[in-house]
Amino acid sequence: MNDGIGHYNVPAIDLTEKKTVREASRNSSDNSSRIERLEKKLETLSIINEVLWGVVSESENITLSKLKEMMVEVALDRTKRNTAKVECGKCKLSIPANKTKCMYCGTDLVFQFEISPFDSL
Ligand SMILES: [Zn+2]
Repeated sequence: MNDGIGHYNVPAIDLTEKKTVREASRNSSDNSSRIERLEKKLETLSIINEVLWGVVSESENITLSKLKEMMVEVALDRTKRNTAKVECGKCKLSIPANKTKCMYCGTDLVFQFEISPFDSL
């Protein structure tokens, strides 16, 4: 706070607050490094994907527009799988269809969809 003559009174910060600030700063830096590593991995995977696309499109004679159609189809299927609900046979509550047990009463549930390994990525 400015005292009117150019001096600022900085409120005293106790040691616990300083430690918290230091930890938050370190966590933020750690998270930035993790994000940077993940971005590099994602870029590598994207390049590998593009190379594989080139191989498949040539050998299978698949056009880019067909690829786009297939991507839309997959995206719609994923949305359907991830938002589908089933009714628990025992407690009758609505449960996500990809669960193996009712989260309310623990009853085993029957899958409505085949679980795709791509859903757990
Ligand atoms: Zn239940």
